[in-house]
Amino acid sequence: MRAMVLEHPGQPLTMRERPAPRPGDTQVLLRVRACGVCRTDLHLVDGELPPHREDVAPGHQIVGKVVALGKGVMGFTVGGRVGVPWLGWTCGKCNFCLRGQENLCDRALFTGYDLDGGFAEFAVADARYCFPLPEGTATWRSRPCCARA
Ligand SMILES: [Zn+2]
Ligand SMILES: [Zn+2]
Repeated sequence: MRAMVLEHPGQPLTMRERPAPRPGDTQVLLRVRACGVCRTDLHLVDGELPPHREDVAPGHQIVGKVVALGKGVMGFTVGGRVGVPWLGWTCGKCNFCLRGQENLCDRALFTGYDLDGGFAEFAVADARYCFPLPEGTATWRSRPCCARA
């Protein structure tokens, strides 16, 4: 698959050919249909956020079609449309997670920052953080994305 990756902050993304990812037990594999560009993506690409990983594919406003399910995934079906947000994984054990404030988890992993995001043909995402989306067009209302405010 093709992926746009961050090789050097401050320089344009680079197109790379990579094997499509395989979904882990709790992940869905998506064919990316669209991915927004958030201010945080720009901060990362411009070098205003320290990179967490080499050659990460940014993009955390993913809309995709499910093409494969990890064996532990419930509530999603192949062919369904889903959205993938900034928060990509949390530990489930720290005080923040146990209080339902997992966006503050110290070990949280973020889509397009720690985890490959949607600037690629395919992406995997933890099903616990994916949102089922209705088919057809939707009225999009601006909402806070990844800001912690
Ligand atoms: Zn946690
Ligand atoms: Zn964002």
